[in-house]
Amino acid sequence: MTLVPFDNQKALRNGDLILIADDDLLTRKILEHSLKQDGYRVVVAADGLECLALFKQERPVLALVDALMPNMDGFDCCEALLAEPDAANFPVLIITGLDDQESIDKAFAVGATDYITKPIRWPVLRHRLRLLVEHLREQASLEANHRELQQLVMTDALTKLANRRRFDEELDKEWRRALRDERMVSLIMIDIDSFKPYNDNYGHPQGDRCLQQVATTLSGNVHRGGDLIARYGGEEFAVVLPNTHGAGAYHVAERIRQAVWDANLPHEYGRRDKNGILLRDRVTISLGVASLSPQAELPPSILVQLADEALYKAKAQGGNNSVFLEAPMVLAA
Ligand code: GH3
Ligand code: MG
Ligand code: MG
Repeated sequence: MTLVPFDNQKALRNGDLILIADDDLLTRKILEHSLKQDGYRVVVAADGLECLALFKQERPVLALVDALMPNMDGFDCCEALLAEPDAANFPVLIITGLDDQESIDKAFAVGATDYITKPIRWPVLRHRLRLLVEHLREQASLEANHRELQQLVMTDALTKLANRRRFDEELDKEWRRALRDERMVSLIMIDIDSFKPYNDNYGHPQGDRCLQQVATTLSGNVHRGGDLIARYGGEEFAVVLPNTHGAGAYHVAERIRQAVWDANLPHEYGRRDKNGILLRDRVTISLGVASLSPQAELPPSILVQLADEALYKAKAQGGNNSVFLEAPMVLAA
């Protein structure tokens, strides 16, 4: 079983809720009273099984668990708590009346954060708890900041799609995964037709809005879990389709092209025929599609080159179309 780090953020949203597990009624009562006096919320269990059930239900910030209890002892309970989803770093303090090396070693061996000896010295324990809870809160806030920054660094500010950096990383990851699993990876490169005259005539801010609308249309038409839509550069987008063969990718490309057509974003400055008549009255896109079974000696950029070449052909054929480029024999699996 793979353990994901304990999600402190989720737990701290419950407030500072502490779980106490002890079969001794008096210890429970004293701890509960003292903790409540210090402003914590408390849930109480009388054995290990109850403790586990309460943990799942209440998601406390930490647990004080007696070592010796009926049904399930504190050591087994600690182990079971840490094996819960998202709980690998959950802080468990084992309470032991047995201040012997063996019990202490056992507590740490099952993953306890710390141990407390009975009789409990509350003036000491309260400071240890306060510091621990403060530390948890700081850690949660750092983790949240880190996640937010990661998100920003990987997102295109204008369209909120994945940016080029994320695209490069994901394509690389998919390429290696496909190599391992002997599967295909497909890529669609997309470029807006006649976007320069659109910008020049409607202005850059309207150009930006157009990019956003195209991005939204793309998002609405690429459905599978592992698929990635990215803003590749200025007015170019890319769609990575893992585990998808060429025919499937071409189908997606055509669906996207049709959806952008149906969005009917007016464009009066596009291509005209030789008589000066506007060929298309709206924003359209061209799409280049490529599919490969990765080979160990080839970098993923080969797929980008192929899709780019296909896009170039789509443009050369007049735009508003999708072209699938068959991989050259040397690349075909
Ligand atoms: P084609 O039909 O062959 O694709 O021609 P095109 O006019 O679209 O030419 P090209 O693909 O070279 O278009 C690039 C233009 O895209 C240049 C610039 O005006 C516009 N552009 C690139 N990035 C941005 C951006 O972030 N915002 C806006 N508004 N426009 C951008
Ligand atoms: Mg371009
Ligand atoms: Mg263009």
